[in-house]
Amino acid sequence: MLIVQKYGGTSVGDLERIQNVARRVRRVRDAGHQVVVVVSAMSGETDSLVAMANALSPLPPEREMDMLLSTGERKTIALLAIALTAMGTPSQAFTGRQVGIETDSAHTRARIERISGERLRKSLAEGYVPVVAGFQGINAQSDVTTLGRGGSDLTAVAVAAAIQADRCDIYTDVDGVYTADPRIVSNARKLDRIAFEEMLELASLGAKVLQTRSVLFAMRHGVPVQVLSSFTDQPGTLVTKEDAEMEQLSVSGVTYDRNQAKVTITDVPDQPGVASRLFKAISDANIMIDMIIQNVGHDGCTDISFTIPRTDVAKLRSHMGTIRLDGSPLTIDVDDRIAKVSAVGVGMRSHSGVATRMFDTLAQNGVNIKMISTSEIKISCVIDERYTELAVRALHDAFELGVVPGGTS
Ligand code: ADP
Ligand code: ASP
Ligand code: MG
Repeated sequence: MLIVQKYGGTSVGDLERIQNVARRVRRVRDAGHQVVVVVSAMSGETDSLVAMANALSPLPPEREMDMLLSTGERKTIALLAIALTAMGTPSQAFTGRQVGIETDSAHTRARIERISGERLRKSLAEGYVPVVAGFQGINAQSDVTTLGRGGSDLTAVAVAAAIQADRCDIYTDVDGVYTADPRIVSNARKLDRIAFEEMLELASLGAKVLQTRSVLFAMRHGVPVQVLSSFTDQPGTLVTKEDAEMEQLSVSGVTYDRNQAKVTITDVPDQPGVASRLFKAISDANIMIDMIIQNVGHDGCTDISFTIPRTDVAKLRSHMGTIRLDGSPLTIDVDDRIAKVSAVGVGMRSHSGVATRMFDTLAQNGVNIKMISTSEIKISCVIDERYTELAVRALHDAFELGVVPGGTS
């Protein structure tokens, strides 16, 4: 079999762990499989590079950020290839550029446009274990790009599609996808299988165990993905097409996202074209908007609130600073002490009452809801960040997702 294995930051967090990864890779190869490995930067490395840049500038140029951030993964590919070779398993390290990962030019969140699998196939044919730097590619000008935080997952899935691997195994620091973040909810339950669509919602609503775009890519290209622990040999979670064997609970997971900020623009003229101008400016700045609320108008004016990633607040202020709707600058209010909690489940399509139970549960716990958004398979509420853990645990209990004490599931 041809297997792509991806190891995240914690799994390659120090030299001992890198050796542990090398042993795991060697074991699979010795069992007769061909392996391509994708690795992240050591845990904390990308964050510390971001902090260094921010210490020099509140809004560092994104092209230069990518140059900086891509160094984290360069270090781990070389170290892992050295460790493997030292154990008698010949290995070659490759940057994104070397394996032909071509992206668009949206620095810090680039999209993969093409991967030429040629160099990887050659390396495999020559008997090496190729170790590929996650999270990075190059654009048409040969400038380094990165694929958004958590982007090594995307590299792994895209490489698996490019070389038509039989499997893409994502090794991390938990042994699968759970009904909620197991670090917050102690009785969260590991799912044996999960549908792509459901995983996509969980990921986009904050379950960072898989990067959202990697799930989308796997879904589109039919790449079977497994999430497993690099520290144990427990079976993981298979992410696959929805099938009849999957449990049909109304809610299958609860997530939280603390990376959002609520922005309110006050006293904008209540006229046609205003929302379009505001949101065009935001999308031109490549900022992803999530929830939007327009309040009831007063004296010909209205307030518009929306949520954006917290990391984009400085960029938003700089882009909106030049907009004049009625001659004066916009009044922009930012609340970044918020969190978004969500209940997700494809079963919601056929179960009613999920929203009511969610609102009741938050109310019973004294948690005020600031914004709400719903879709066919999810309900999200923006709340005060202080109550994140309380809300996630209460919702997980209310939807009866936990492991039953003494039970089998
Ligand atoms: P890696 O560095 O391996 O890419 P991440 O930190 O990106 O790992 O993702 C793994 C983390 O995701 C876990 O440590 C866990 O705290 C978190 N997580 C959040 N929600 C979930 C969930 N529903 N199931 C499993 N893990 C989750
Ligand atoms: N090192 C990058 C990050 O921390 C990519 C990844 O780990 O997947 O976001
Ligand atoms: Mg990750």
